[in-house]
Amino acid sequence: MKLPSVLEALGLTNDNPGVYAGRFANRSRADAIESRSPTDGTVLGTVRRATVNDYEKARSVAWDAFPAWRDLPAPKRGLLVRDIGEVLREKCEPLGHLVSHEMGKILAEGIGEVQEMIDIADFAVGLSRQLYGVTMHSERPGHRMYEQWHPLGCIGIISAFNFPVAVWSWNALVAAVCGDTMVWKPSPKTPLTAVAVHKLIEPVLKDHGHPGIMNLVVGDADVGQAMADDPGMPLVSFTGSSAIGKQVASRVGARLGRSLLELGGNNAIIVMDDADLELAIPAVVFGAVGTAGQRCTSTRRLLVHRDIVDTVVRRLKKAYAQVRIGDPLSKNTLMGPLIDADAVERFESALARIKREGGRVVCGGKALTTGKHRRGHFVEPTIVRADFDLPAMQEEVFAPILYVVAVDSLDEAIAIHNEVPQGLSSAIFTERFKTAERFLSHAGSDCGIANVNIGTSGAEIGGAFGGEKETGGGREAGSDSWRAYMRRQTNTLNWSDDLPLAQGIRFG
Ligand code: NAD
Repeated sequence: MKLPSVLEALGLTNDNPGVYAGRFANRSRADAIESRSPTDGTVLGTVRRATVNDYEKARSVAWDAFPAWRDLPAPKRGLLVRDIGEVLREKCEPLGHLVSHEMGKILAEGIGEVQEMIDIADFAVGLSRQLYGVTMHSERPGHRMYEQWHPLGCIGIISAFNFPVAVWSWNALVAAVCGDTMVWKPSPKTPLTAVAVHKLIEPVLKDHGHPGIMNLVVGDADVGQAMADDPGMPLVSFTGSSAIGKQVASRVGARLGRSLLELGGNNAIIVMDDADLELAIPAVVFGAVGTAGQRCTSTRRLLVHRDIVDTVVRRLKKAYAQVRIGDPLSKNTLMGPLIDADAVERFESALARIKREGGRVVCGGKALTTGKHRRGHFVEPTIVRADFDLPAMQEEVFAPILYVVAVDSLDEAIAIHNEVPQGLSSAIFTERFKTAERFLSHAGSDCGIANVNIGTSGAEIGGAFGGEKETGGGREAGSDSWRAYMRRQTNTLNWSDDLPLAQGIRFG
C-alpha cells in the first residue's frame, strides 16, 4: 500500500495535511517531530513534539480515569481489550504497512508485528478471567489466608523504535485488564505508528466510556525522564538500550518506584557438530539479518563446533549473497534499511573497531550508498570471524553484524556464551538430547530465553519475554508476567471467637 492510502485507512489525514493535530496539538513547526522514511528520506508525516507539561496533563487524565476503570470487573475490562483486538484485526494491513514505511522492517515483519498485537489482545482477554491469587493454610485455627492482586494505578510505558507498536501492546493490553491506566511515550524515531495506534483505539475507549485510560505523549528524553522521576508513576516499563535503561532504573529506584526493564541483548546460537544444518542455517540467517539486525533478540554471536565451522561459514556466505536489500515494502526484499544515519555510523565504527581488534570480515562490511540505496540507510549484512576474546563482542551493536567463533566443546561454548554482560535470548542446534538438556539446565544458558533447534529471534507471546543481567530482568507478555502490573495483597481473615497471635505469641 502506498503511503497516502495507508494514512487514510488509519485516519491520519486531517485538515492540515502532514501534521497530526492530536490532543495537545500545536502547529508550530519548531515543535514538530518529523517522521522520515529510513528507506528514502522522505517526510512521512509530522507530529507535535510533546513537552513535559503535556506529559503532566496526560498523567492527570490517566489518574482521573483510574478509579472508574479500577472499579470495573476485570472480565469487563477484557471486553474493551477484545474490541481493541478487533480494530487491530481490521486495520492489520495498513498498520503493518505503516510500521514498514516508518521503521524500515520488511512488510512480512511489519504485518507480523501487528499480528503480535492481536495475539496479545486475545491473550489479555483470557487473562481478564484468570488474575488468580493463591490461598494458604493459616497456622491459626478459624483463620483463612489468601492473596489477591490489585491494580497499581497509572503506569508509564517508554518504548524503543524497533518494535514501534508491539511493545506498547504487550504492556498496555495486559496492564489494562489488570485495571491500570497508562501514559505511553514511544520513540521519537517512530512517532506516526504511535499516533496511528492511538487514533485506532480512541473510538473503542470512548464507546466503552473510558476515554482517559490510555494516553500518548510523543516526546523526547526529557519526557521519559519526567516519567521516571514522577512519584505518581508507580511503575515505569522501559524498553530500550541498556545504557538508557540504567539511567531510568536509577531514577525510578531513587524514589523507590518499580521499573520493568527490557533492555539490550547480545544473543548467541551454539551450533554443535551433530546439528541439522538444514535447520540451523536459515535460523541464523533470519536471526542475524532479519529486521536488519535491529531486534533485541537478533543473533549476534555464532559459536560453532570447530569440526564444522568452515562448512557453516561457507553456507552462510552463500545464503547472505542471496539476501535482497532494499525497499522494505517490496515483495522480494529480505532486508530493509537501518533506522537512521546515526545507526549506519555506529555500524561503520563498530566494524573499524572490530578490525583493529583482530576480527576478520568474511562477508559484507560496508554501508550501501549508491544506486537504489543512495537515499536510505542501508548496510550489508556482515559476518566476522573472531576469537572468543574480541572485546567488541561484549557490546550490542544494533546492526546486522554476526561474529563467528570456533569452539571445541559444549563446555567451552557455554562459557563463551555466558561471558557477555547481556542475557536475553539464546539457542543451541544439536540432535543430542543430553547436549540440549545440558544447555537448558542451570549450568547452561544464563539467558531469559533458551531454545533448542530454533533461533534466538521471534518469540511467541504466550511465554514470559525478557532477560537477565544487563537485559534488565523484566518479563512481559505471556505466562504470569501480568503480576508486574499489579500489587499483591496478603489477607488474613479470622472467623473464630479467639484472637490467637502468630508464632504462638502470648501478649499481656
Ligand atoms: P533507546 O534506549 O535509545 O531509546 C528507548 C526509549 O527511551 C525511547 O523512547 C527514547 O526516547 C527514550 N529515552 C531516551 N533517553 C531517555 C532518558 N534519559 N530517560 C527516559 N527515556 C529516554 O533505544 P532505541 O535505540 O530506541 O532501541 C534499541 C534498543 O532497545 C536496543 O538496545 C534493543 O536491544 C532494545 N530493545 C529491547 C527490547 C527487549 O524487549 N529487551 C525490545 C526492543 C528493543
